Amino acid sequence: MQQPLSPSLTAFAPAGHPLVRVEHLSRVISTRSQKTVILSDVTFSVLERSLFAINGPSGSGKSTLLNMLTGVDRPTSGRVIFGNEELGGRSENALARWRGQHVGVIFQFFQLVPTLTAVENVLLALELGKGGGLPKRDWRKRAQECLETVGLSAFARRLPSELSGGQQQRVAIARALANNPPVLIADEPTGNLDSRMAHEVFATLAGLTQQGKTVIYVTHDRELAARAQARIGLLDGCIVEQQGANALLVSSTEGGQ
Ligand code: ADP
Ligand code: MG
Repeated sequence: MQQPLSPSLTAFAPAGHPLVRVEHLSRVISTRSQKTVILSDVTFSVLERSLFAINGPSGSGKSTLLNMLTGVDRPTSGRVIFGNEELGGRSENALARWRGQHVGVIFQFFQLVPTLTAVENVLLALELGKGGGLPKRDWRKRAQECLETVGLSAFARRLPSELSGGQQQRVAIARALANNPPVLIADEPTGNLDSRMAHEVFATLAGLTQQGKTVIYVTHDRELAARAQARIGLLDGCIVEQQGANALLVSSTEGGQ
């Protein structure tokens, strides 16, 4: 059943249930001569309808972790549980189908199709995701609604090149919303924007939690991370700090006393 996207006056139940649980997740890349540990024993959870940040410097494993969350890559050990479903053990096809229904992904460089207008970019996502169960005749209306949600209904017929960076990223958010997934996952969504546009995009993402979405975003910016309701900080593939994430911390200076 399709849920309306427009903000409802009915308040959602307070966030409280873990929607995503990550347990003892590790990712090791092995070549003949060496093993590289990219993620090491990462454990945390994300509450439903919360704004959750994954923070850390470049190379700390943030994108690798997102790829585990969306099932694009498989962990070497450990597990990811979405709702009550474990991602591991599914075939690639099953994972792709699952991803189409459950997560909307937003990238640093927007990744819009340059020859399609804003509304056509959102429609393309509906075609690929079969409209999240919505009949085809309603797809265009749905695409318009998604653009309205991000404040861009007046820009539906513009090509990406006719939009600012912040507007392009908001079209990408509308596209991520198209099939009405419960979770949005954004990898450095403001990393390519100036501070004013970054603020607009961040406000758009944060506002989606009011509409029942769980938003997980990666950032290397500590200030942006601090604006989340919960967060983890990664360093060299380990969680070294956390707030409200039920995370297992790795202490780099274990005194052992
Ligand atoms: P971040 O997104 O925090 O910048 P990444 O998750 O992209 O970090 O990468 C973490 C580390 O893992 C980096 O040192 C990167 O070079 C390494 N890495 C990522 N993917 C691979 C891979 N397929 N093979 C080898 N090393 C990789
Ligand atoms: Mg990255």
